[in-house]
Amino acid sequence: MSGPAHQHRAVDAPRIQALSIRQPWAELIVAGHKLVENRTWRTRYSGLLVIHAPAAIDKRALAALREAGTVLPDELPTRVFLGVVTLEGIHDERDGCCAPWGEPAVKHWTLTGPQRFAAPAPGIGAQGLFNVPDDVAATVNQLTGAPAAGR
Ligand SMILES: [Zn+2]
Repeated sequence: MSGPAHQHRAVDAPRIQALSIRQPWAELIVAGHKLVENRTWRTRYSGLLVIHAPAAIDKRALAALREAGTVLPDELPTRVFLGVVTLEGIHDERDGCCAPWGEPAVKHWTLTGPQRFAAPAPGIGAQGLFNVPDDVAATVNQLTGAPAAGR
């Protein structure tokens, strides 16, 4: 217990969280094509969500998407933070909602406002939601106009 004063810190502003999503799904999200993420679990977190592309690529999905004519870059970066979206909410799939990307019998994480980083930021992902490195948080704050710390 070192000081009498509370830290002037917004208690309801959690650290920006990231989620690892395999390519090519991560690319489709930051490109604004896919604004629902299928997960078997939900979180209470909402707000800015950084999209991380882990090392593993969903090769079956990639082949199927290319076959279907989905335009994707030749090179899909991995082990990088790609961009940021806003996680608006999460609901249970119902009656084939969130077509064409929503999958049956899972949770749909609805996303808005995708913004791609000017350059992918190298970094390692994690299971579940995880705190982003400071440099990535700074990039997000610049992009989204969030107040800088200490102002
Ligand atoms: Zn849905």
